[in-house]
Amino acid sequence: MIYLDYSATTPVSYDVLESYNKATKDYMGNANSIHSLGVKSKVLLNSATKQICELLSINEDELIYTSGATESNNMALKGVALAYQNRGKNIVVSKLEHPSIYKICEFLETQGFEITYVDNDSDGLIDFEDLRNKVRSDTILVSICAVNSEVGIRQPLKTLRQIIKKENVDTIFHSDITQAIGKVPVNLHDVDMASMSGHKIFGPKGIGFLYKNSKVRLIPLIHGSGKFNDLRSGTPPLPLIVALSKAIRIALKDIESKEVSVKKLNDRICDNLSKYEGIILNKTKYSIPHILNISLSNIRPETFIHAMEEEEIYLSTNTACASGDLSTSVMALFNDKDRATSSIRISLSYVTTNEEVSKFLSIFKTKYEELNNLKSKEN
Ligand code: PMP
Repeated sequence: MIYLDYSATTPVSYDVLESYNKATKDYMGNANSIHSLGVKSKVLLNSATKQICELLSINEDELIYTSGATESNNMALKGVALAYQNRGKNIVVSKLEHPSIYKICEFLETQGFEITYVDNDSDGLIDFEDLRNKVRSDTILVSICAVNSEVGIRQPLKTLRQIIKKENVDTIFHSDITQAIGKVPVNLHDVDMASMSGHKIFGPKGIGFLYKNSKVRLIPLIHGSGKFNDLRSGTPPLPLIVALSKAIRIALKDIESKEVSVKKLNDRICDNLSKYEGIILNKTKYSIPHILNISLSNIRPETFIHAMEEEEIYLSTNTACASGDLSTSVMALFNDKDRATSSIRISLSYVTTNEEVSKFLSIFKTKYEELNNLKSKEN
């Protein structure tokens, strides 16, 4: 099997699973219980949290565990909207967000909030002037993805923060860092809030976090005993948290050199695929090397993905997380409907090897030619 869908999810790494198993077997107590089993679990919980916070250079009261990025995005947007609605009802988002952000925005619109979309340039970079104009005195929140999930566009969070805060120092800046963390360096001090999912960095599914700067107030989505965290009640899922801490530690180790190795693989694929007449590379100078989006002019993306799957090569349509058959990100970037409905995503990891890329390219050629020949016969 050649797995090239690492931006959809990753396998749980061996060490992470070991940590998960050990925490499950040896720490059965509820970390909220006051007896010795609970205390033992609480000690482990505190040490996992401490490790995550040290790795991310944040304070322990700034980390809220969630089930993953979708929940974190909900907590960030709805939580801020509810907490600050008396200050204003305007929220600014980019045109390169994950569908979960747009769905939350649609809901907030039904609750009387106004959503404003900030433009990007043709390379995907947020239009700084437009952002300046769109942050108003009643803008309570700006949410801009650190790395876009479909085309991999990376935004300069520090610069965006400076622009936002200069226009309105009270506007909260949230970023969905799900596709950035573990791939490129992220400084959480560039934002006020950040969302992520552990399963994108070789951690288990069902755990993630919301980072929330201590100055930001939130109304919780999940009310309960509040024993562990009053912003997200419930028994802490200790094995998942321990596994997340291990996954983050591994993900951040040697991040720059891992990125260099992924870039070499991406360059090889791009050099090869750019020779095909019917293939367009949907990348710009801001695309990170881990996400390579291409459009196939003659073949339906689903047909191609299933053809590759016959050879145990796993890719993604742009719509793995979206509901329609049009890539909103490709559309926002290139404003070309054909290109946006025919795109597929090849996503790489630092564990991807040169041999896998060679095999992928060779099978790609065979399948592409086969399907193109079929198409010409049909016509
Ligand atoms: N944000 C981004 C940028 C993503 O890529 C994803 C996953 N595709 C999510 C949010 C949602 O993550 P999850 O499904 O783990 O909640």
